[in-house]
Amino acid sequence: MLIQDNDAVGIRFDFPGQAYASLQYACPGEIRDAQTRLFLKHLHYIAENSGFYRRLFKENRVDINKIRTPSDITALPLTEKKDLGDSNAFLCVGTDEIVDVSLTSATTGSLPTVLHLTSGDLARLAYNEEIAFAMTGITQQDTLLICAALDRCFMAGIAYFLGGVKLKSRVVRSGSGSVSSHWELIRLTGATAVVGVPSLIYKIGRYALDQGDDPAKAGVKRLIAIGEPTKDPAMKLLPLARDLENMWGASIFSTYASSEIATTFCECTERCGGHLRPELGITEILDDAGEPVSDGSPGEVVVTPLGVTGMPLIRFKTGDISFLIDEKCRCGRTTKRIAPVLGRKNQMLKYKGTTVFPNAVIGALEGDPRFHGGYVEAFMNQDGTDRIVLNAAIDETQGVDWMKDILRARVRVVPEIKIIDRNVADRRVYQFDKKRKRVTFFDLRQK
Ligand SMILES: [Zn+2]
Repeated sequence: MLIQDNDAVGIRFDFPGQAYASLQYACPGEIRDAQTRLFLKHLHYIAENSGFYRRLFKENRVDINKIRTPSDITALPLTEKKDLGDSNAFLCVGTDEIVDVSLTSATTGSLPTVLHLTSGDLARLAYNEEIAFAMTGITQQDTLLICAALDRCFMAGIAYFLGGVKLKSRVVRSGSGSVSSHWELIRLTGATAVVGVPSLIYKIGRYALDQGDDPAKAGVKRLIAIGEPTKDPAMKLLPLARDLENMWGASIFSTYASSEIATTFCECTERCGGHLRPELGITEILDDAGEPVSDGSPGEVVVTPLGVTGMPLIRFKTGDISFLIDEKCRCGRTTKRIAPVLGRKNQMLKYKGTTVFPNAVIGALEGDPRFHGGYVEAFMNQDGTDRIVLNAAIDETQGVDWMKDILRARVRVVPEIKIIDRNVADRRVYQFDKKRKRVTFFDLRQK
């Protein structure tokens, strides 16, 4: 293995924030005190070194000396994805301290955003994922297969790799390989845990079954689901996730993260939402007006990642809608948890007075043997309201009533239904986007 603790490669694994790992089990007062120290350090570092925030603070007349606790964070301006266009304005170190360049998807129609990372930022990512994996029960005894791109400047893949290495598990870089190569590596290495997008792990399992193999006998005990939710807001497994557990004879754990926030909220062994990481970030849930909502109420997830040195951010708007859970977890951790992501803010549809997320429509049907795939399209009616069309590959002879019943029960509304051919559905949905997520929503509303 090339990378050892603090070795000559230059990746130092002793991220200072890891001294706060015990905060997971601390009382609220202790968490608040530690987070206050980390937050003020972060804020003053940014005020001193970030051209973007110096200008933003001046424009908004922010006096950072008046910010004393994490709850004062609401006095600071929000940062949006489009602000990151000129990433150099965010740089807080000389270019000689940058050791990794990551790219993250851009807002529609523009170039990807560049994220500059220092060796300290890589150490922070390693620590972040080490704790996330450990939360699911992965240990040094595990063989961890990573089915996420480690190349093409993706941050997630390298974070999983470094985290697995720091945890001292045996990491298998399956990367963005084909479904058959992932399965071959699982058999060859005896992988006990697989990290990947749920729909991809499902395809790997299907491939194995088609070969006459049984994925449930492969010895995989944990599926770490990235990029797509596995549960509905009531923490009930989505049909696809339930099928995955049966198919692999394994437990599925959800993680939520994004490149900009560089922080992972992972489920513990109790599997009831991703634990927040107070030593790595301040998480807020905001309404449309940018005001905090109470725990349990949905809103946009906004994160201030603490301890980042290359391109630190303040109050980054993720565009994801979720809510916080403030109940003691049976695992003994005292941190709040984040619920499954309900959907993307810009994909939120209004239909017959109800909020609908396209992913919830597909998620409700997946796993039913009568549903062979499909996607959702949104159009705008002449009166400005949303029109939703579910394109579903089903057997026409069975009718659509069964589908309407499921949708009424799980998403409360029934959109227009168009029956399509299975091949058409596959061609449209499985043009995996760059993160190897499926594309199941096409927004054709006039902006
Ligand atoms: Zn827990």
